[in-house]
Amino acid sequence: MLTLAIIKPDAIQAGNAGKILAFLEGQGFKLRAARLVRLTQTQAETFYAVHRERPFFRSLVTFMTSGRGLVLALERDDAVSYLREIIGATDPAEATPGTVRKLYAQSKERNAIHAADSPENAAREVAFFFPEGELAGL
Ligand code: GDP
Repeated sequence: MLTLAIIKPDAIQAGNAGKILAFLEGQGFKLRAARLVRLTQTQAETFYAVHRERPFFRSLVTFMTSGRGLVLALERDDAVSYLREIIGATDPAEATPGTVRKLYAQSKERNAIHAADSPENAAREVAFFFPEGELAGL
């Protein structure tokens, strides 16, 4: 099973991308596709459309377009729920010790990593970033 993660611009800027990827590989995830992407405003608004009425939406879009993110298609048994478990809570103050966000997030917004939250969203997000992957059997 595949899921979609993004190592966010804060973690790239802090030099933590390699450490986060190594952690994910150490947890049994296989890297199936990767792309370093600076999202356009339209892409970020589309990707986070579910949050467009939230007070933090503009700030989130500004943050996610502030630099490049590393988009990853990752494979593992139970990939979606297991990745959500090991990234930790949205707010690092509430994240379990040893999770990616506890280790690397700077704040509730600049929280190091995105992970798809359902199998349906994982499939949609993989296709959003790797449309050619449909041909390659991603
Ligand atoms: P996730 O699934 O854990 O990433 O959390 P959500 O889907 O609820 O929110 C998406 C992203 O919006 C989070 O990862 C944060 O970067 C950001 N975010 C969520 N809640 C807040 C908030 O209360 N304030 C701010 N500034 N950003 C937030």
